[in-house]
Amino acid sequence: MKIMSINAGSSSLKFSLFDMDTENVLVSGLFERIGIEGSCYTIKNSEFKIKQDAELNNHSDAVKILLDKLIELKIINSLEELDGIGHRIVHGGDKYTDSVVVSDQVVEDIIRFSDYAPLHNPAHAVCIKAFREVLPNTPMTVVFDTAFHQTIAKDRYLYAVPYEWYEKHHVRKYGAHGTSHRYIAKKLAEELGRDDLKIICCHLGNGSSISAIKDGKCVDTSMGFTPLAGVVMGTRSGDIDVSLVPYVMEKEGKSVGEIMDCLNKKSGFLGISELSSDSRDIENAVKEGNEQAALAQKMFVNSVVKYISQYYVELGGCDVIAFTAGIGENSAATRLEIIEELACLGIKLDVEANNVRGEVRCLSSSDSTSMVYLVPTNEELMIAMDTLALIK
Ligand code: ADP
Repeated sequence: MKIMSINAGSSSLKFSLFDMDTENVLVSGLFERIGIEGSCYTIKNSEFKIKQDAELNNHSDAVKILLDKLIELKIINSLEELDGIGHRIVHGGDKYTDSVVVSDQVVEDIIRFSDYAPLHNPAHAVCIKAFREVLPNTPMTVVFDTAFHQTIAKDRYLYAVPYEWYEKHHVRKYGAHGTSHRYIAKKLAEELGRDDLKIICCHLGNGSSISAIKDGKCVDTSMGFTPLAGVVMGTRSGDIDVSLVPYVMEKEGKSVGEIMDCLNKKSGFLGISELSSDSRDIENAVKEGNEQAALAQKMFVNSVVKYISQYYVELGGCDVIAFTAGIGENSAATRLEIIEELACLGIKLDVEANNVRGEVRCLSSSDSTSMVYLVPTNEELMIAMDTLALIK
């Protein structure tokens, strides 16, 4: 069976086509700068890579070119060979607790939840409509990034603010990266042959979040009402005292929108280091003795350690600490710094085993009180697996 997973942004469309018998990617690619001058697309697999300029006025243009190219490149012989399409959706509000088959109601809800994800949800809806126009008979599903976090209990998802904000405006913790956290929990359960695990999953990338997972269900997560909350990130501040917002507004003569922009796009690694949002640049600068880069790295590690220790208690102990995403999968140095801070809990890395990337591997020493694992994430495959399960 062939299933395509789609991740649409406001000006982009990423896709991966899976052969679900082998779970291998047949082809993947990216349409960029949709609706902006200089639009183009890339399509690739292990045998070829095509990069082409193209007029992409809207998502429909991208969908049409994508489907034509799949046939032209002989990846498929006809559109009937596409057994299903799964769309990644950033926000499912508090309604969607699982992936579902697309219907008019689902599309309406995605648009309704745009308040929570103004950059993403409208683009998802446009993209689903574009696919439904060209492929009216192909089964389609949506996989919500918030769904996995819907098992969090009320005493953990509420903020201690006037209760009517929750009742009237649905102000609460929603979390993000749920598809990744769910994939890691599933992989670890398979790897260890147990579904009763207490997992602290550290998805550390440009955006980072940490989840506490018990018996495959999410108990708590570090991102909040929006993905701005939680640990220090590439350009996002993570948790702050909101009182600094009106204070800096007044001092700098900035609007609330400008301050929010700073907190989302000019903070985190970038804000503290005044150098880069990319952890590789930060690591290199630290080696060269850059003090602000070292400060940014330490603040990032501190924030991750803070959440791990909180979740260790919330879960009543921990079987596995898992690292995933760009930094979690690639930076042995950062993993080591984080785990060294947890020495008082008896958690220890095997420094040699930790020198690895791109594979599922146990990184902890044999006398560590919790296991530490590297598990590469694969949100696209998780979307395709959900789609397969739903259309079957
Ligand atoms: P996104 O949130 O955009 O999906 P990624 O999961 O791709 O982000 O992670 C991007 C981050 O991963 C960047 O900070 C990047 O520097 C980091 N990263 C990628 N490769 C390495 C590496 N080899 N060493 C350290 N960090 C890395």
